Amino acid sequence: MNLEQGLVGLARERPPSLMRRRILWGVLVLLVLALLAMLVWLASLYETAQVQGRVERDAAEATGDLRAAFMRNVQSLQALQANDPTPSQWHGDAASLLREHRELMRVEWRDADLRVHSFVDTPFRAPVVDRVRRSNQQSEVLLACSTARRFSGPAYGNSYFVPLSDGLGVEVMELCLPLESGGKPAGYLVATYSLQEVLEGLLGRQVTRNYEISFTEGDGTRLAMRGSTRRGSRVFTAQHLMDLPGTALVLRIDSWRGTPDLFPNVLTALVAAMAIALVSVLILLDRDMRRRLKAENALAEALAFRKAMEDSLVTGLRARDVLGHITYVNPAFCQMVGFSVDELLGHGMPAPYWPPEFIDEYQQRQAIRLAGNVPPREGYESVFMRKDGSRFPVLIIEAPLINAQGVQSGWMSAFLDISEQRRVAELSRASQERLQATARLATVGEMASLLSHELNQPLAAISGYATGSLNLLGEGSDLTRELGADLTVAMRCIAEQAERAGKVIRSVNDFVRRRDQVREALAPQLLLDAVLPLIHLQARKLSVRVQTQVEPNVPFAMCDRTMVEQVLLNLARNAMQAMDQPHIQDRVLLLRVRRLKGRERAKWLEFSVADVGAGITPEVQQQLFKPFFTTKAEGMGLGLSLCRTVVEQHGGALVFEPNVPQGTVFIFTLPASVVA
Ligand code: ADP
Repeated sequence: MNLEQGLVGLARERPPSLMRRRILWGVLVLLVLALLAMLVWLASLYETAQVQGRVERDAAEATGDLRAAFMRNVQSLQALQANDPTPSQWHGDAASLLREHRELMRVEWRDADLRVHSFVDTPFRAPVVDRVRRSNQQSEVLLACSTARRFSGPAYGNSYFVPLSDGLGVEVMELCLPLESGGKPAGYLVATYSLQEVLEGLLGRQVTRNYEISFTEGDGTRLAMRGSTRRGSRVFTAQHLMDLPGTALVLRIDSWRGTPDLFPNVLTALVAAMAIALVSVLILLDRDMRRRLKAENALAEALAFRKAMEDSLVTGLRARDVLGHITYVNPAFCQMVGFSVDELLGHGMPAPYWPPEFIDEYQQRQAIRLAGNVPPREGYESVFMRKDGSRFPVLIIEAPLINAQGVQSGWMSAFLDISEQRRVAELSRASQERLQATARLATVGEMASLLSHELNQPLAAISGYATGSLNLLGEGSDLTRELGADLTVAMRCIAEQAERAGKVIRSVNDFVRRRDQVREALAPQLLLDAVLPLIHLQARKLSVRVQTQVEPNVPFAMCDRTMVEQVLLNLARNAMQAMDQPHIQDRVLLLRVRRLKGRERAKWLEFSVADVGAGITPEVQQQLFKPFFTTKAEGMGLGLSLCRTVVEQHGGALVFEPNVPQGTVFIFTLPASVVA
């Protein structure tokens, strides 16, 4: 299957495949979109898990940090009691400790019965504990210290809220350290923590900068809070239980960071960008496919059109490459030579349709052609051979075949089978010869009748004189006696021979005049058609336009076909010759046939031959129908007289009159046929 058939086939099967192609494209686009969405979703899921993990980690780390800080503080507090300090010594150390540790609100030294022995408040804020309220808080201290005593180590009390005079308040937590002296309980060291300051002072800036960090109760109530409160649409939260001896605190971290971006990292963005690029490429591809499909369809249509055109041509077409191999033939060419396309395609020289006797000549011609010589534009004639061996003449018109790049890729030839043309030319030549022969015969007949006419009188005179002489030589006269019977016999012979000559001439005349007349009913158009080819031959030479006008429904003419054709031909020839003058530009010869009007006249058809020539001078008019009168160098001067004879033999008349505005019209009549 070649490209051409493929494309034509493609154009035919378009509807189902277009539908399928659209569905496939739709599925592909959906898949790519789904893939893209899934990719983005997974990436955001991953990113969320990452962020959550980080928050959890940071919460655990913060809890650890706080625990460690509490441990260190316990040690610092224990250090206050080292070496049995004096109250003033203790006071000084405690004050400096409080300066270093903002989270501690107050440090109390209590005796074994929990009575306050000595205390120091933080210098950074107004004392959160006064004497009145301290008694209210005593229960928490008691609880913590009893636990501490039980543990023999530091213990923390539950946190509680201390309202302040400014309307605000602080959440505090008591730490109780049991003191021993010589293995016996020697009192307690009670430190009050501000949970808010714990968050402020004991956690690294890194944590507080990124998170909102708080201590909460089990039900989520915030006890103290630190950090920025910017919030996204979604907050990542981690809670960590911080176990302390005697109590437990819940540390909660809220990440102020919102939902991760749609494209959280470069890789995802890159993949997404690639997916978008893929979709774009798909769209472009689809567009390109559409364009291609359109172009393919247009091409298929054009090819189908070209094929239909080539198939309908009667002209044979053949293309050859530069080496002379046949690359293309159309059906008309195959039909012409009788070979199939397959037999011809790719065939080199000599071609199968070359007659063997001309192969050498054609080879030479092709060599000249392949050498790059351009053949004549009007073509040349040649002879080809059909597959059955019969020869036929062709007219070949060749032209260089230029490809899309503008380079000559071979030769394109068009072929016309001119056998029919030849046959028609041969026929018209034969008919011309026939007409000429008839004309000659008619001329001879005319001459014979003229001669007979001219000779009749002298012969009659001879016969008369001979008869007169015989009468003079009447019997019994002297002369007769003198000259004897011989002279009488001779004179009688002269008279007889003259008589005989007269008879011969008369019979010739009769023969000419009464020659077998073959009358037939003929359509006037038929008569015109018979002579028109011959008229056209001469008209072309003399640049004359020939027009015919046949009245519609004109009856048939009853006539001798050959003779009437001769008349028409003669008149037309005279008319064209009359127009053959340089000053006459628009040379028109008009042949017209119509029926005469009127009751009697309707039996007649009128033929007229009109020209726009120089016209006929009065001198010429007088002698026009005279035999042998001519104004032409080559003329015989018999044409018009013959025409008149023929027309008159048919019972009609031949006349002429001036044409308006110039020229002459010759008009003759012929009887109309009753049959028609
Ligand atoms: P020929 O054509 O041989 O001269 P014709 O008898 O046909 O003989 O014509 C005689 C002459 O009549 C012509 O030589 C020409 O001078 C003149 N004649 C005939 N037809 C025309 C015409 N249509 N116009 C002018 N002159 C004509």
